[in-house]
Amino acid sequence: MNTPANIPTAEITASTVKTTCPYCGVGCGVDAKVSDGRLIAVSGSQDHPTNRGRLCVKGSSLHETTSLEGRLLEPQVNGLPVSWDQAIGHVADGFNQIIREHGQDAVAFYLSGQILTEDYYVANKLMKGFIGSGNVDTNSRLCMSSAVTAHKRAFGADVVPGCYEDLELADLLILVGSNAAWAHPIVYQRIAAAKQARPEMKVVVIDPRRTATCDIADIHLPLKPGSDGYLFSGLLSYLADNDGLDNGYIKQHTDGFNEALKAAQTSSPDLLTTASQCELEPTLLEQVFDLFLNNDRCVTLFSQGINQSSTGVDKGNAIINCHLASGKIGKPGATPFSITGQPNAMGGREVGGLANQLAAHMDFSDPENIDLVESFWQAPNMTHTEGLKAVDMFRAVNEGKIKAIWIIGTNPVVSMPDSNFIREALQRCELVVVSDCNEITDTTLCANVLLPATTWGEKEGTTTNSERRISRQNSFLPIPGSARHDWQILCDVAKKMGFSEGFNFTDSGAVFREHAKLSGYRNTLPKGKLHKEKLSKSKGQRLFNISALSLLSDTELHNLPPQQWPVTNSRQDSTRLFSDGQFATIDGRARLIPIQPALPAFPTDTEFPLVLNTGRIRDQWHTMTRTGKALRLLNHIDEPYVELTDSDAQRFGVEQGAIVEVSSPLGRCVVKAMISPAQREGSLFMPIHWSDQFAAHARADSLIHPVKDSLSGQPESKHSPVKIRPLAMAWQGVILSRNELPSLATEYWCKTATEYGYRYELADATQPISWPQWLQTVTDPGEDYVELSSSGSELYRLASFMNDRLELLFMATTGSSKPTHNWLAEQFAKTSLNQEQRLGLLSARAVEPTEDVGAIVCACFQVGENSIKQAIAEGVDSSEKLAEKLKCGSNCGSCLPEIKALL
Ligand code: SF4
Repeated sequence: MNTPANIPTAEITASTVKTTCPYCGVGCGVDAKVSDGRLIAVSGSQDHPTNRGRLCVKGSSLHETTSLEGRLLEPQVNGLPVSWDQAIGHVADGFNQIIREHGQDAVAFYLSGQILTEDYYVANKLMKGFIGSGNVDTNSRLCMSSAVTAHKRAFGADVVPGCYEDLELADLLILVGSNAAWAHPIVYQRIAAAKQARPEMKVVVIDPRRTATCDIADIHLPLKPGSDGYLFSGLLSYLADNDGLDNGYIKQHTDGFNEALKAAQTSSPDLLTTASQCELEPTLLEQVFDLFLNNDRCVTLFSQGINQSSTGVDKGNAIINCHLASGKIGKPGATPFSITGQPNAMGGREVGGLANQLAAHMDFSDPENIDLVESFWQAPNMTHTEGLKAVDMFRAVNEGKIKAIWIIGTNPVVSMPDSNFIREALQRCELVVVSDCNEITDTTLCANVLLPATTWGEKEGTTTNSERRISRQNSFLPIPGSARHDWQILCDVAKKMGFSEGFNFTDSGAVFREHAKLSGYRNTLPKGKLHKEKLSKSKGQRLFNISALSLLSDTELHNLPPQQWPVTNSRQDSTRLFSDGQFATIDGRARLIPIQPALPAFPTDTEFPLVLNTGRIRDQWHTMTRTGKALRLLNHIDEPYVELTDSDAQRFGVEQGAIVEVSSPLGRCVVKAMISPAQREGSLFMPIHWSDQFAAHARADSLIHPVKDSLSGQPESKHSPVKIRPLAMAWQGVILSRNELPSLATEYWCKTATEYGYRYELADATQPISWPQWLQTVTDPGEDYVELSSSGSELYRLASFMNDRLELLFMATTGSSKPTHNWLAEQFAKTSLNQEQRLGLLSARAVEPTEDVGAIVCACFQVGENSIKQAIAEGVDSSEKLAEKLKCGSNCGSCLPEIKALL
C-alpha cells in the first residue's frame, strides 16, 4: 500500500524523476533529484515545453518543502487516532446514514485545484453517479469559474483556444487583471524575453494597481476597480466606429454580433464615455484602443482580476467579443487567453469537478449528456441536476441542509470569502471529513474525521495547465505514515458505502484510462457531420477528447510527455484551436454575447470608504501550508500587510509599518501598513496567504463579501468596501524560539519559520504589569536565563539557555523602534555562548559585526535590498551588472521587476 503504485521501488532511488510543479497554473516541468528516498534538489525540465528549464522561486524551493513536519500521518476520528478501517467505516456509515435520513443532497464534496485529475475523477464519479447528487464543487470556483462560463457561452465548450507560444508571437499583449510577474512567473518571463527580443512588441497592463508586471508594460491603464466590462464594451464600439471589424469573419463564423454591438454602443458608445466610466485619461485609452485596432496579432490575457467579480462572466465575454469581432482568434499570436490560477484547475474542469459540470466537459443542459455518462459509468444513481456551487454549498452547510461535507486538499476557512462564516458553518455541521497532508490547518481544526493524504512527490497522476497541456506528476518519495492517495481513499469509502462495481481501480493509471475512454465515448462523429436534427454534443464532436491516451500502459503513462489536448488518433496538432473558424457549438459558430456592464455589487460608502483588493504575493502560495516551510520564501515578505497610497495613509493617519486594523461588516484584520505608490487612491491590497496558523488576525478573505456572479457563482474577491485605522500599540516585541509556541494572545502576532526555529513578531495594546509573568503565559524560560529591564519597564529583554545553547530570546519595548534581529539568528547556531555574547544579546547589538542586508529581494541568492541599493550607489546601473556583482536575479528571475524598480 505504501509503495507508489506503478513504479518499481528501485526507481524511487533513481537520481532524477520527471514531474510537474504543484503550484500555479503555468504547469512547469520539474526534474526532481532524489537520493536515498529524499528530494535533494529540483531544476526546471529542459525538455518541458512550458518552462524550458526555468523555474520561478517557488518552484526552485520545492526541495525545501518536503519535510514531514506538521504532516498528518494517521487517520483520526474526533481527535483520536484510528485504523483506516475504522476511519473509512466512520465516513461511509456517516454518509449513508445521512443520505438515508435526509436524501443524497444532504451530503457534499468540496475539492481542490491542487489535487490530481485522477482524484477529481473518482470524487466526481462517486458523488454524481453513485451517491446521486451534484454537490461536488471545488476551490477552482474561486479562481476561474467565470472564465469557464464565458468560454461555454462564446465557444460552446470550456476551451482556452491559444497556447503560451501565442503570448510570445503577439505584437500586442494586453494583460487584464493579471499580475503575471508574481502569480504566473514563468509565463511572465517568457513574455519579458519575447519583448526583449522584439522591443517593438507592445505590452499593455490593465489593472487598478501598478504591479510588478507593469515593469515591462509600454502602457499601464490604472482603471477604476471593477470597470473592465465598460472598457471592453467601449473597445467593441471603437472597433465598429474605426473600421476595426472583420466583417467576413463575423459573417462566416459568428452569431450575435449585432446584439453585442448594440449593447456595447448603449453602455459605452464612445471613447470619452468609456474613459469616464473607467476613470482613465482618454488619450491613454485611445492609444490602447488604437493598438488593438492596428495589431492583428493580439492576445488578451485575463486572470483573477476579471474572474473574481460579480459580473466576471460578462467581463470575460466582453473581451472575447472584441477578439471574435476582429477575427483575432485561432491564429498564431491572436487569441483571448484565460490563464488559470491553480496547477490542476483545468484537470478538474475536464472531469467535471464543478457542481454545474457533468464529466468529460459535458454539463446538465442536455439529457443525452446525462444518459451518456450514466451509461458509461453504469451509474446506479445518476444525478440529473447541478449541485450547489461553493458559496451556496457552505450556506447550505450552515443552514443544516448539507449535513456531511468531505473537504479534500483545500483550506476554505482561510480561502473562502466571509471565511469566519465558513468556520461557523463547519463547526455546526454534523459530519466534517477533511483529507489533507497537514494535521493542523484552520480547516482541519473543524473536522470530525481527518484522513491523511499523500502529497506532491508521493502521489502520481496528471495535471493540465492553462494551455491545455497534460503533464505528469510522478512519485519519488516514500509514503509517510499510513497516508493514502486521495483517489484510493475515495474508492475505499465508495466500496464501503456499497458501490463496489465502479471503484475497483488498481492504480491511478486505471483511473486515468477510464477518464480518457469516457472523453471519447460516443464522441466519434467527424466534424461537419452534425445535422440540425441531431443537435446534441453527446452524439459527437465534443472537443475534449483524449481517447488516444486510454490505451496507454502504466509505463507509457509514467513516461507520458507533456501534451496538449485534444489527443485523438486522427488529430495531428492541438497547439491552438478554432483556427478553421469552427467552434464547439452545435452549428460550429461562435457566439458574441450582449453585455450590460456593471460596477461591483457593493460600492464604498462613508463608513467603508475604501476598496479592498486581494491577491497573491510573489513567494507564497495559497495558505502557506507548503511555502511556509521554505525559509528563503519567507524572507521576501514575512508579515501580513495592507498596501495603500501615501494620500490614503495621510487621510487615515496611518504611518509606514504601523499596525492597522482593516475591517468590513464581516470581520477585521490586524496587519502592517505598507505605503506604496503602486496602489490606486481609494484602494487597498491585502495578500490572501496568512491563516490563523501564521498570524493573529490576517485572513484577508474574512473581510470579503460572498457576493457572486449569478452565472458562474464566482465570488467578488477583488472588491469589498472596507475601512482602515491605525491601532495604538502599548508595546511591540519579538520572540525568537527554538520551539514552536502555542497561539499568542496579543492583538498582533505573526509567526515565521527560521533556520533555528521560529520568530514571532508581536504587539499589543496593553502593556503587561509584569514582563516575566507575561512571558510565563507563553513559555517557561527555565532556570538558566539572563534578563534586562529598564527602570520604567519600557524595555525588557530575556535570553534563556539550555546546556549553554541559546533557547529563547524575548525583546519587548514600549518605544517605537525595535532592534534588528537578523544577526541574532546566528547566535542560535552556536553550541554555547560566553558571558560577553550573553550580554550582547541583552544589549541587542552584535558582538561580531554583521552586515544588515535588508529585506530579501532575491530569494534564490538571499540578496537584500540594502545590498542592492549599496551596489547601485556605487555605480552599478543595470540588472545584468547587478547579477554579475551580487548574483541577484540571475537564477529564477522572479525578483527582476523589483530589482529594476530599485534601479
Ligand atoms: Fe511552479 Fe513557478 Fe512554474 Fe508556477 S511559474 S508552475 S509556481 S515553477
